[in-house]
Amino acid sequence: MKWKDGKRAAASLTYDDSTINQFRVALPIMNQLNLPGTFYVITGAIPGSQYEPTFVGRPVDEIIAETADIPTNKENLFERASAIRFLGLDGTYQYHNRAGQAMESGNLEEAISAIDEGYQRVRNGEFVPDTTYDEELYDVLAIEDMNVDLITWDELQEVANQGHEIGSHTILHPYLAVLDSANIHHELVKSREDILNHLGPEHTFSAEGPFGTENERVMEYAYELYPALRNRMPHSWLDELNRSSDEDPTQSQNEYVQWQRGTLSDTPMETMKSWVDTSLEKDNIWLVLVIHGVEGIGWEPLTESELTEYFGYMADKTDDLWVATFKDVTQYIRERMNADVETNYDNDRISVNLTHSLDPHLYNHPLTLKTYIPTEWSSISVRQGDAMNEAEVMKDDTGTYVLYDAVPNAETIELSPENVD
Ligand SMILES: [Zn+2]
Repeated sequence: MKWKDGKRAAASLTYDDSTINQFRVALPIMNQLNLPGTFYVITGAIPGSQYEPTFVGRPVDEIIAETADIPTNKENLFERASAIRFLGLDGTYQYHNRAGQAMESGNLEEAISAIDEGYQRVRNGEFVPDTTYDEELYDVLAIEDMNVDLITWDELQEVANQGHEIGSHTILHPYLAVLDSANIHHELVKSREDILNHLGPEHTFSAEGPFGTENERVMEYAYELYPALRNRMPHSWLDELNRSSDEDPTQSQNEYVQWQRGTLSDTPMETMKSWVDTSLEKDNIWLVLVIHGVEGIGWEPLTESELTEYFGYMADKTDDLWVATFKDVTQYIRERMNADVETNYDNDRISVNLTHSLDPHLYNHPLTLKTYIPTEWSSISVRQGDAMNEAEVMKDDTGTYVLYDAVPNAETIELSPENVD
């Protein structure tokens, strides 16, 4: 089946930046309604992380001195834009952000001039010393009150135990497109390592690079580390409509379409609900919600009452809508697109082999299969290895069938009538 349990559409609730009310306010609502979510967390902001934000490279004094004689150019831009966050000075990270924004919009000249301006002010002694990165972090999180709690690894472990996915959103939320390769690596590899060590390998499947980057160079590095990125998912069989796209997902004729929608504080409830309705109009839409702040904390926060109403609306549709983590939906659709089903009909049993060509360690999500059965089989058992399931018998225009979950690349699935005399 196109989606798990034969549903019409999928939805993933994803959160960026790990602000505290995502866990204290949104999560309990989701748990109550049985809706799993995916949380992309900034690991450098979690107390007890092994890897702190840092610059990887030459001593920064050397770099600063060099800027006096050699103007910024496209060869030295990335090193300088990486280092300027970590000069031990208060506020220089803003030049990293300006250069990063320019780079993301394809404006190299503007990126270069932002970096030149920043270093000139550094050489002029215009910044005061500051060795912490709190200001940069809280700026990214759009939080003015620096006494607000940050999420801890212990709490994240509980969240993971409840069936939610945690993923990396880097160490300190840089514009990756303007970092040099050593620092892209540090932000990606070390953030991944902290998640791996604290939460285990199932939370290193998907990740999100900050600011929704789709920069080619960044994507190449990131795809070496992660099987899936919310930023981009290049498949011929998947159309991607990102948060800024105004294309109508129901116009996509592709096998799947990933439709990302970002919630903002002023997004009307009716609009948010219409995303769910639109996703259910066809059978190929995967709605990926991108949520930031919650109940007054974080960028563009939604309120508790909005989330209660909206998640309740989604939960009411779960007969047709498969709500699952980003990882689970990714695994499902990739497995299905690479799967082979071989069905052998015998007199008193049907055997089915389900295989796929993907790495079995990464891709072991059960797929929902539909198998037509003889009309006289009114009750049926489905057995795969030691697992035995009764499956509901249903009918459509083609005939009588059962829907059931099967693990790929495992034992042959045996279907047989329960009421055989
Ligand atoms: Zn972010």
